[in-house]
Amino acid sequence: DISLQNVERLPRLSRVAVCGGTHGNELSGVYLVRELLKVKKKKKKEEEDEDGGAMSVLLVLSNPRAMQQCLRYIDTDLNRCFTHACLIGPTLDKTPYEMRRARELNAMLGPKGSAGAMDLICDLHNTTANMGLSLITYSDHDWICMHIFRHLQARTHGLDRGGGSHLKSAQYDLKWVGPVGPQPHGVVRSNIYTTMKSGVQYMLDWVHFFNSGVIFDGGFMDVFTVVKHIDYPRDGETHNITAAIHPQLQDRDFCLLRPGDPLFQTFSGETLRYTGSEPLYPFFINESAYYEKGIALCLARKRPYKMSQIFKKYA
Ligand SMILES: [Zn+2]
Repeated sequence: DISLQNVERLPRLSRVAVCGGTHGNELSGVYLVRELLKVKKKKKKEEEDEDGGAMSVLLVLSNPRAMQQCLRYIDTDLNRCFTHACLIGPTLDKTPYEMRRARELNAMLGPKGSAGAMDLICDLHNTTANMGLSLITYSDHDWICMHIFRHLQARTHGLDRGGGSHLKSAQYDLKWVGPVGPQPHGVVRSNIYTTMKSGVQYMLDWVHFFNSGVIFDGGFMDVFTVVKHIDYPRDGETHNITAAIHPQLQDRDFCLLRPGDPLFQTFSGETLRYTGSEPLYPFFINESAYYEKGIALCLARKRPYKMSQIFKKYA
């Protein structure tokens, strides 16, 4: 008899989507999805759906026009277009490209909350920060994502960073984002590409295990929960930044930052220190795409996260 405490029975995951190119200049995801499409096409010719349609994997290139121009976006950040208000608004001539594309993607992957919606969406990103393979979810109680994180953590080197974060509200109920870095935008680096490729394979393996009835034990996993963002110091009049990330902080993502530690070095050579009272973990340090958002780094609290035991609910 299984104790009912901390046990979750969850429905099978039949529809999984892997999305690349949500930001058109984050090239690992772009080339990985293209490669997976090629493999799928070849496979289809050889053997028709070998697992009897137990799990379908939809491969999506999210922002084709931005990819074509190797830009993060054309009109506006696609990742910010999945709010209810954006998705239901009327499509006009002046509607930004990404907003129109978000509606197409919502029809393809959702619609949000409908019976035909994807059970799991894996959105692939790169970061210029030294974050290794990091995973972001938007809910604390997303058992599937948390178990996938732990599965990946056990199988990848350098993944000591299960990520729980509340940066944005959920796009779908089960969505997670995998930023992998450091990789400059507009560049593909073989080691980063390979890390992402393994991560996606481990994720799909886990879904297969889950669907075939494997029981995943509870326990604890460290997660980082975002506390706040810090902007660059800026000139009051011009709003130009007046300092860069301090050399002692650069590339030290997920290393504890203590009060008084160097944070920025001004362009005149002065060291600016972290004035917060709580030691916190920095990440997204010097992410190039966040200059326009006014974010020099994010700070997180690390805490042990209690996992539920989970297994598949039988219909
Ligand atoms: Zn991105």
